[in-house]
Amino acid sequence: MLGSGGGDTTVVCIACGESLPRSEAREYDKTGDRWERHDKEFEHFCKDCFRELSHQPRSGLESLLVDIEDDGLSETEFLSRYLDRVDDDEAVEEPDS
Ligand SMILES: [Zn+2]
Repeated sequence: MLGSGGGDTTVVCIACGESLPRSEAREYDKTGDRWERHDKEFEHFCKDCFRELSHQPRSGLESLLVDIEDDGLSETEFLSRYLDRVDDDEAVEEPDS
């Protein structure tokens, strides 16, 4: 793919898969040490995807994250679930259990 030389580290937006310079990426660390359980580095989003996330109402976010969190879930799968949830606001599933 891209050469490994140069000063800019390229990261991949985990939401859309786009490669971009790390300097232009947004680190996603709002869940703090939650990610440490997954033995993972920071997630990166491109600005567009980060803005998408930021537009979501904060209320309910934590419960949503907990709801979709699952042991052994990869960050990619986790974010996929997350984005799937927040993107589908006309058919919000309310777990009854
Ligand atoms: Zn993106």
